[in-house]
Amino acid sequence: MAHSDPSSSTRGATRRPGTLWVVATPIGHLDDLGARARHLLGTVPVIAAEDTRTSRRLVEGRSGNVTWLSLHEHNESHAASRVLDRLAAGDDVALVSDAGTPLISDPGYRLVGEARRQGFPVSPVPGPCAAIAALSAGGLPTDRFSFQGFPPARAAARRARFESLAGATETLVFYVPARDLPGVLSDMASAFGTERAAVVARELTKQFETIRDGGLGALAEWVSGDPDQQRGEAVVLVEGAAGKAASDIDARRLARELAAELPPARAARVLARVTGLSRREAFDEIERLRADERGD
Ligand code: SAM
Repeated sequence: MAHSDPSSSTRGATRRPGTLWVVATPIGHLDDLGARARHLLGTVPVIAAEDTRTSRRLVEGRSGNVTWLSLHEHNESHAASRVLDRLAAGDDVALVSDAGTPLISDPGYRLVGEARRQGFPVSPVPGPCAAIAALSAGGLPTDRFSFQGFPPARAAARRARFESLAGATETLVFYVPARDLPGVLSDMASAFGTERAAVVARELTKQFETIRDGGLGALAEWVSGDPDQQRGEAVVLVEGAAGKAASDIDARRLARELAAELPPARAARVLARVTGLSRREAFDEIERLRADERGD
Protein backbone atom coordinates (compact mmCIF):
# COMPACT_ATOMS: atom_id res chain seq x y z
CA MET A 1 0.00 0.00 0.00
CA ALA A 2 1.23 3.51 -0.75
CA HIS A 3 1.33 5.48 2.47
CA SER A 4 0.51 8.85 1.06
CA ASP A 5 2.17 11.68 2.91
CA PRO A 6 1.00 15.00 1.51
CA SER A 7 3.59 17.00 3.46
CA SER A 8 6.70 14.94 2.70
CA SER A 9 7.53 16.75 -0.53
CA THR A 10 7.84 20.04 1.36
CA ARG A 11 10.19 18.68 3.96
CA GLY A 12 13.38 18.74 1.93
CA ALA A 13 15.70 15.90 1.15
CA THR A 14 16.60 15.03 4.75
CA ARG A 15 15.13 12.02 6.48
CA ARG A 16 11.38 11.80 6.04
CA PRO A 17 9.64 11.98 9.42
CA GLY A 18 7.31 9.18 10.37
CA THR A 19 3.55 9.45 10.05
CA LEU A 20 1.27 9.03 13.02
CA TRP A 21 -1.58 6.82 11.80
CA VAL A 22 -4.70 7.03 13.99
CA VAL A 23 -6.25 3.62 13.46
CA ALA A 24 -9.84 2.62 14.31
CA THR A 25 -10.32 -0.97 15.46
CA PRO A 26 -13.45 -3.13 16.03
CA ILE A 27 -15.95 -2.35 18.82
CA GLY A 28 -16.91 -6.04 19.00
CA HIS A 29 -16.91 -7.98 15.77
CA LEU A 30 -13.29 -8.61 14.77
CA ASP A 31 -14.18 -8.75 11.06
CA ASP A 32 -14.83 -5.02 11.29
CA LEU A 33 -11.09 -4.33 11.21
CA GLY A 34 -10.69 -2.51 7.89
CA ALA A 35 -8.24 -3.58 5.20
CA ARG A 36 -6.06 -0.48 5.55
CA ALA A 37 -6.02 -0.85 9.33
CA ARG A 38 -5.05 -4.52 9.02
CA HIS A 39 -2.28 -3.70 6.56
CA LEU A 40 -0.85 -0.89 8.69
CA LEU A 41 -0.95 -2.89 11.90
CA GLY A 42 0.81 -5.67 10.05
CA THR A 43 3.64 -3.48 8.79
CA VAL A 44 4.33 -0.39 10.95
CA PRO A 45 7.44 -0.65 13.13
CA VAL A 46 5.71 0.89 16.17
CA ILE A 47 2.21 0.47 17.62
CA ALA A 48 1.09 2.71 20.47
CA ALA A 49 -1.79 0.97 22.22
CA GLU A 50 -3.98 1.74 25.20
CA ASP A 51 -3.59 -1.85 26.37
CA THR A 52 -0.92 -3.73 24.44
CA ARG A 53 -2.34 -7.14 25.48
CA THR A 54 -5.81 -6.30 24.14
CA SER A 55 -4.45 -5.01 20.83
CA ARG A 56 -2.07 -7.90 20.14
CA ARG A 57 -5.02 -10.03 18.99
CA LEU A 58 -5.36 -7.64 16.03
CA VAL A 59 -1.94 -8.56 14.66
CA GLU A 60 -1.92 -12.31 15.25
CA GLY A 61 0.39 -13.99 12.77
CA ARG A 62 2.31 -10.79 12.06
CA SER A 63 5.85 -11.44 10.99
CA GLY A 64 8.61 -8.90 11.52
CA ASN A 65 9.52 -6.82 14.49
CA VAL A 66 7.15 -4.42 16.10
CA THR A 67 7.72 -2.24 19.12
CA TRP A 68 4.68 -1.92 21.36
CA LEU A 69 4.34 1.29 23.34
CA SER A 70 1.74 1.58 26.03
CA LEU A 71 -0.17 4.86 25.87
CA HIS A 72 -3.11 5.28 28.23
CA GLU A 73 -4.94 7.90 30.22
CA HIS A 74 -2.43 7.84 33.09
CA ASN A 75 0.85 8.01 31.13
CA GLU A 76 -0.11 9.89 28.00
CA SER A 77 2.31 12.82 28.37
CA HIS A 78 5.30 10.59 28.98
CA ALA A 79 4.28 8.00 26.37
CA ALA A 80 3.61 10.75 23.82
CA SER A 81 7.22 11.92 24.01
CA ARG A 82 8.43 8.39 23.22
CA VAL A 83 6.11 8.25 20.21
CA LEU A 84 7.34 11.67 19.03
CA ASP A 85 10.94 10.45 19.28
CA ARG A 86 10.10 7.51 17.02
CA LEU A 87 8.34 9.79 14.51
CA ALA A 88 11.39 12.08 14.51
CA ALA A 89 13.58 9.04 13.81
CA GLY A 90 11.49 8.37 10.69
CA ASP A 91 9.36 5.51 12.00
CA ASP A 92 5.67 5.33 11.22
CA VAL A 93 3.54 4.78 14.33
CA ALA A 94 0.01 3.37 14.53
CA LEU A 95 -2.08 4.63 17.43
CA VAL A 96 -4.89 2.30 18.55
CA SER A 97 -7.21 2.18 21.54
CA ASP A 98 -8.89 -0.85 23.10
CA ALA A 99 -11.88 -0.54 20.79
CA GLY A 100 -13.22 1.83 18.18
CA THR A 101 -11.74 5.16 17.18
CA PRO A 102 -8.85 6.52 19.27
CA LEU A 103 -9.51 9.90 20.97
CA ILE A 104 -13.29 9.32 21.03
CA SER A 105 -13.64 8.90 24.81
CA ASP A 106 -10.22 7.28 24.53
CA PRO A 107 -6.60 8.45 24.93
CA GLY A 108 -4.58 10.08 22.17
CA TYR A 109 -5.70 13.71 22.18
CA ARG A 110 -2.47 15.05 23.70
CA LEU A 111 -0.29 12.97 21.40
CA VAL A 112 -2.16 13.96 18.23
CA GLY A 113 -2.12 17.64 19.24
CA GLU A 114 1.59 17.59 19.99
CA ALA A 115 2.45 15.62 16.83
CA ARG A 116 0.60 18.19 14.74
CA ARG A 117 2.21 21.12 16.57
CA GLN A 118 5.63 19.61 15.86
CA GLY A 119 4.78 19.25 12.17
CA PHE A 120 4.54 15.47 11.90
CA PRO A 121 2.01 14.10 9.43
CA VAL A 122 -1.03 12.71 11.25
CA SER A 123 -3.49 10.69 9.23
CA PRO A 124 -6.71 8.86 10.20
CA VAL A 125 -7.54 5.30 9.23
CA PRO A 126 -11.28 5.54 9.92
CA GLY A 127 -13.47 2.68 11.00
CA PRO A 128 -15.71 1.55 13.85
CA CYS A 129 -17.01 4.02 16.41
CA ALA A 130 -19.81 3.10 18.84
CA ALA A 131 -21.42 6.57 18.67
CA ILE A 132 -21.63 6.56 14.88
CA ALA A 133 -22.76 2.91 14.78
CA ALA A 134 -25.61 3.72 17.21
CA LEU A 135 -26.64 6.81 15.24
CA SER A 136 -26.58 4.85 11.98
CA ALA A 137 -29.02 2.22 13.24
CA GLY A 138 -30.96 4.08 15.96
CA GLY A 139 -33.52 5.90 13.83
CA LEU A 140 -33.31 9.31 15.55
CA PRO A 141 -32.46 12.46 13.56
CA THR A 142 -28.81 12.54 12.51
CA ASP A 143 -28.70 15.86 10.68
CA ARG A 144 -27.46 17.45 13.91
CA PHE A 145 -26.12 15.57 16.92
CA SER A 146 -23.77 16.26 19.77
CA PHE A 147 -21.46 13.76 21.38
CA GLN A 148 -21.66 14.00 25.18
CA GLY A 149 -19.26 11.20 26.12
CA PHE A 150 -19.76 9.55 29.53
CA PRO A 151 -22.24 11.29 31.86
CA PRO A 152 -20.75 12.16 35.27
CA ALA A 153 -20.71 9.16 37.63
CA ARG A 154 -21.98 11.11 40.65
CA ALA A 155 -25.77 11.33 40.70
CA ALA A 156 -26.00 15.05 41.54
CA ALA A 157 -23.52 16.08 38.83
CA ARG A 158 -25.23 13.77 36.36
CA ARG A 159 -28.66 15.26 36.98
CA ALA A 160 -27.25 18.77 36.67
CA ARG A 161 -25.63 17.81 33.34
CA PHE A 162 -28.87 16.37 31.96
CA GLU A 163 -30.87 19.37 33.12
CA SER A 164 -28.42 21.69 31.37
CA LEU A 165 -29.06 19.71 28.15
CA ALA A 166 -32.85 19.51 28.41
CA GLY A 167 -33.40 22.33 25.90
CA ALA A 168 -30.83 21.13 23.34
CA THR A 169 -32.48 20.62 19.97
CA GLU A 170 -29.99 18.18 18.44
CA THR A 171 -29.81 14.43 19.07
CA LEU A 172 -27.65 13.77 22.15
CA VAL A 173 -25.21 10.85 22.21
CA PHE A 174 -23.98 9.35 25.50
CA TYR A 175 -21.60 6.51 26.33
CA VAL A 176 -22.93 4.44 29.24
CA PRO A 177 -21.56 1.22 30.76
CA ALA A 178 -24.65 -1.00 30.72
CA ARG A 179 -24.55 -1.56 34.50
CA ASP A 180 -25.27 2.19 34.88
CA LEU A 181 -28.24 2.17 32.50
CA PRO A 182 -31.01 1.98 35.17
CA GLY A 183 -29.74 5.06 37.05
CA VAL A 184 -28.81 6.99 33.93
CA LEU A 185 -32.11 6.37 32.13
CA SER A 186 -34.15 7.24 35.19
CA ASP A 187 -32.23 10.52 35.65
CA MET A 188 -32.66 11.21 31.94
CA ALA A 189 -36.43 10.60 32.24
CA SER A 190 -36.59 13.16 35.09
CA ALA A 191 -34.58 15.79 33.21
CA PHE A 192 -35.83 15.30 29.63
CA GLY A 193 -39.33 13.93 30.37
CA THR A 194 -40.60 10.35 30.35
CA GLU A 195 -41.99 10.68 26.81
CA ARG A 196 -38.78 12.00 25.19
CA ALA A 197 -37.77 9.57 22.41
CA ALA A 198 -34.52 7.70 23.02
CA VAL A 199 -32.57 4.65 21.90
CA VAL A 200 -30.48 2.20 23.91
CA ALA A 201 -27.89 0.53 21.64
CA ARG A 202 -26.12 -2.19 23.63
CA GLU A 203 -23.36 -4.63 22.68
CA LEU A 204 -23.23 -3.38 19.10
CA THR A 205 -21.78 -5.85 16.58
CA LYS A 206 -21.58 -8.53 19.32
CA GLN A 207 -23.60 -11.67 19.94
CA PHE A 208 -26.18 -10.01 22.20
CA GLU A 209 -26.57 -6.79 20.26
CA THR A 210 -29.79 -5.05 21.30
CA ILE A 211 -31.15 -1.81 19.89
CA ARG A 212 -34.34 -0.63 21.53
CA ASP A 213 -36.21 2.63 21.05
CA GLY A 214 -38.99 4.19 23.08
CA GLY A 215 -39.80 6.94 25.56
CA LEU A 216 -37.18 7.43 28.30
CA GLY A 217 -39.65 6.36 31.02
CA ALA A 218 -40.44 3.08 29.28
CA LEU A 219 -36.78 2.39 28.51
CA ALA A 220 -35.81 3.01 32.15
CA GLU A 221 -38.48 0.55 33.31
CA TRP A 222 -37.48 -2.07 30.75
CA VAL A 223 -33.77 -1.95 31.61
CA SER A 224 -34.41 -1.95 35.37
CA GLY A 225 -36.59 -5.04 35.04
CA ASP A 226 -34.12 -7.08 32.98
CA PRO A 227 -30.63 -7.75 34.41
CA ASP A 228 -29.45 -8.95 30.98
CA GLN A 229 -29.83 -5.39 29.71
CA GLN A 230 -27.38 -4.26 32.37
CA ARG A 231 -24.47 -6.25 30.94
CA GLY A 232 -21.81 -4.98 28.56
CA GLU A 233 -21.55 -1.57 26.95
CA ALA A 234 -24.15 0.82 25.63
CA VAL A 235 -24.77 4.02 23.75
CA VAL A 236 -27.84 6.07 24.66
CA LEU A 237 -29.30 8.46 22.10
CA VAL A 238 -31.82 11.09 23.19
CA GLU A 239 -33.89 13.00 20.69
CA GLY A 240 -33.45 16.79 20.72
CA ALA A 241 -36.03 18.94 22.50
CA ALA A 242 -37.52 20.99 19.72
CA GLY A 243 -37.64 18.43 16.90
CA LYS A 244 -40.89 16.76 17.86
CA ALA A 245 -42.58 19.73 19.51
CA ALA A 246 -41.88 22.02 16.56
CA SER A 247 -43.23 19.56 14.03
CA ASP A 248 -46.38 19.01 16.14
CA ILE A 249 -47.03 22.74 16.29
CA ASP A 250 -46.39 23.17 12.59
CA ALA A 251 -48.70 20.29 11.71
CA ARG A 252 -51.54 21.74 13.80
CA ARG A 253 -51.07 25.19 12.34
CA LEU A 254 -50.89 23.80 8.83
CA ALA A 255 -54.08 21.77 9.35
CA ARG A 256 -55.94 24.86 10.59
CA GLU A 257 -54.84 26.93 7.59
CA LEU A 258 -55.72 24.18 5.14
CA ALA A 259 -59.14 23.61 6.71
CA ALA A 260 -59.87 27.33 6.39
CA GLU A 261 -58.68 27.68 2.79
CA LEU A 262 -59.50 24.46 0.93
CA PRO A 263 -62.39 22.03 0.46
CA PRO A 264 -62.06 19.17 3.03
CA ALA A 265 -60.88 16.44 0.61
CA ARG A 266 -58.12 18.61 -0.89
CA ALA A 267 -57.08 19.91 2.52
CA ALA A 268 -56.84 16.31 3.81
CA ARG A 269 -54.81 15.23 0.79
CA VAL A 270 -52.23 17.99 1.31
CA LEU A 271 -52.11 17.46 5.07
CA ALA A 272 -51.53 13.71 4.61
CA ARG A 273 -48.72 14.32 2.13
CA VAL A 274 -46.93 16.84 4.33
CA THR A 275 -47.32 15.15 7.73
CA GLY A 276 -47.29 11.44 6.90
CA LEU A 277 -50.79 10.98 8.43
CA SER A 278 -53.03 8.51 6.60
CA ARG A 279 -55.61 10.11 4.27
CA ARG A 280 -58.36 8.99 6.72
CA GLU A 281 -56.60 10.53 9.75
CA ALA A 282 -55.95 13.74 7.87
CA PHE A 283 -59.57 13.94 6.76
CA ASP A 284 -60.84 13.38 10.33
CA GLU A 285 -58.48 16.09 11.60
CA ILE A 286 -59.70 18.58 8.97
CA GLU A 287 -63.33 17.73 9.75
CA ARG A 288 -62.67 18.21 13.46
CA LEU A 289 -61.09 21.62 12.87
CA ARG A 290 -63.96 22.69 10.60
CA ALA A 291 -66.45 21.61 13.27
CA ASP A 292 -64.49 23.60 15.90
CA GLU A 293 -64.53 26.61 13.60
CA ARG A 294 -68.30 26.36 13.19
CA GLY A 295 -68.66 25.95 16.96
CA ASP A 296 -70.37 22.49 16.65
N1 SAM B 1 -13.31 4.84 21.19
C1 SAM B 1 -14.54 4.08 21.31
C2 SAM B 1 -15.43 4.41 20.12
O1 SAM B 1 -14.95 4.80 19.08
O2 SAM B 1 -16.63 4.21 20.23
C3 SAM B 1 -15.22 4.33 22.64
C4 SAM B 1 -14.39 3.97 23.82
S1 SAM B 1 -15.14 4.30 25.36
C5 SAM B 1 -13.83 4.03 26.48
C6 SAM B 1 -16.12 2.87 25.66
C7 SAM B 1 -17.62 3.16 25.57
O3 SAM B 1 -18.02 3.14 24.21
C8 SAM B 1 -18.47 2.10 26.27
O4 SAM B 1 -18.65 2.36 27.65
C9 SAM B 1 -19.77 2.24 25.52
O5 SAM B 1 -20.49 3.36 25.99
C10 SAM B 1 -19.28 2.54 24.11
N2 SAM B 1 -19.12 1.28 23.36
C11 SAM B 1 -17.97 0.69 22.98
N3 SAM B 1 -18.22 -0.46 22.31
C12 SAM B 1 -19.57 -0.59 22.28
C13 SAM B 1 -20.45 -1.56 21.72
N4 SAM B 1 -19.98 -2.63 21.08
N5 SAM B 1 -21.78 -1.38 21.86
C14 SAM B 1 -22.26 -0.29 22.50
N6 SAM B 1 -21.47 0.64 23.04
C15 SAM B 1 -20.14 0.50 22.93
